[in-house]
Amino acid sequence: MNRALLMELLKRMKSNVLEGKEIGDLKIGSILALGHQLEAIFYYLGHELGSLFEVPEVSDLMNIPDELAKVIKKFNLGDVEITERSKEHASFRLFGCRSCKQLIPLNIKAEESFCSFEAGLLAAFVEKMSKSHCFAQELNCSLQTNKPYCEFMIVYQKD
Ligand SMILES: [Zn+2]
Repeated sequence: MNRALLMELLKRMKSNVLEGKEIGDLKIGSILALGHQLEAIFYYLGHELGSLFEVPEVSDLMNIPDELAKVIKKFNLGDVEITERSKEHASFRLFGCRSCKQLIPLNIKAEESFCSFEAGLLAAFVEKMSKSHCFAQELNCSLQTNKPYCEFMIVYQKD
């Protein structure tokens, strides 16, 4: 799923709706941005599940990765190693990712991102922490790279 494109199209649809204009073409564009539908459904499910958990509020975005790492550990979702952080985004490695850890010993390989369920979960956690919108994406899956972790990036939305 091309989440950045999807967000852009959704923003344009919102302003068209507010101005009383049509959104037909944008709606079709957003279906294309969704791409692999299963991936989008898993992201949605992860996001819905994540919304049910209680997480602490974090006022400084620079502290989000540390709090996220604690929450992931506490909820038995794996172990986090933070690789990048800024006021706009965070990147990290997730060891013991639930979606793929049982597939690794079976030698199953993925062509592309596999753990969109976790991405949705993480996005929901960060949205609750920061009280603002965000999106998360798996950059590299353990099933692609053979490394013992999946890599994720979270981008914080300003508006
Ligand atoms: Zn993965």
